[in-house]
Amino acid sequence: MKIFRRSRLRRRRRPLVRLALFVAIVFALPTVLIISGQPKDEDRINSVINQRDVLEDPVIDFREVSAKDSEAEEPSEQNPEPDPEPEEPEQTPEQAAKTGEIIYLTFDDGPSPYTANLLDILKKYGIKATFFVTGAGDESLITREYNEGHAIGLHTMTHRYDLVYSSPEAFFAELDAVQARVKNATGKTTNLVRFPGGSSNTISRRYDHGTHIMSYLAQETTNRGLVYFDWNVDSNDAGTAKTAGEVYTNVVTTLKPGESVVLQHDNRDFSVAAVESIIQYGLEHGYTFAKLDAGSFTAHHGVAN
Ligand SMILES: [Zn+2]
Repeated sequence: MKIFRRSRLRRRRRPLVRLALFVAIVFALPTVLIISGQPKDEDRINSVINQRDVLEDPVIDFREVSAKDSEAEEPSEQNPEPDPEPEEPEQTPEQAAKTGEIIYLTFDDGPSPYTANLLDILKKYGIKATFFVTGAGDESLITREYNEGHAIGLHTMTHRYDLVYSSPEAFFAELDAVQARVKNATGKTTNLVRFPGGSSNTISRRYDHGTHIMSYLAQETTNRGLVYFDWNVDSNDAGTAKTAGEVYTNVVTTLKPGESVVLQHDNRDFSVAAVESIIQYGLEHGYTFAKLDAGSFTAHHGVAN
């Protein structure tokens, strides 16, 4: 009975339901389609754009990275952790510690028959040195030293202690004479000086008649606008060293943590023979080679007479 009553009710409501359904279909459905359809289309468009971005990005990246790589090996934005300086990892810690340290090769008492060979070695490595010249040797070698970019300094004309340290007048006459030689060879004067025996020499006491000439000369050279240089690395090629091996060892084992002014003599063949090995050692250990100028480290010993 209950079933019968329900079916009758359904039958009575059916026209209303049909009407409601019709209204719903006619008015509501297009609205639903419009509302739901628009975002779907946008999503689809966005999705297409996104896919294109994803596809295009690696292509752009590749082209940018490869172009940069071929040009300058600069780190790209797409590579957040680029390799730093490519050379650095190849340096040993010892080399890195020495970076920025300078060796000034200086050669006294020339020119000599060995000077041309020395200039060839320096040229081979593109290294500039300093020559404290005298009246010895072929003057054209001073010209060559200058033309090849080396610094020229004065070391007196005769280098005879009994003459140069006999009086201040004698010393400056010696200096003027070698200056004239440098001017003749190079067309230029120089204000670089090295005292025979260095500023700390005491041999001058033998010849200066008790005048403490080195104290005077050290001050007077400065008064005359000259700059005198000593050294802080002695190859000892004018002393106990008699072979290239000894010169090499004396130099490389006493290089300073900073600036090294190395004393050698280009009128000693075994000392010149050590220069290439010294250069190779310096380059392999990260040193820079330079010539002296008036503003360079002077390595003054301190006057002792
Ligand atoms: Zn000398």
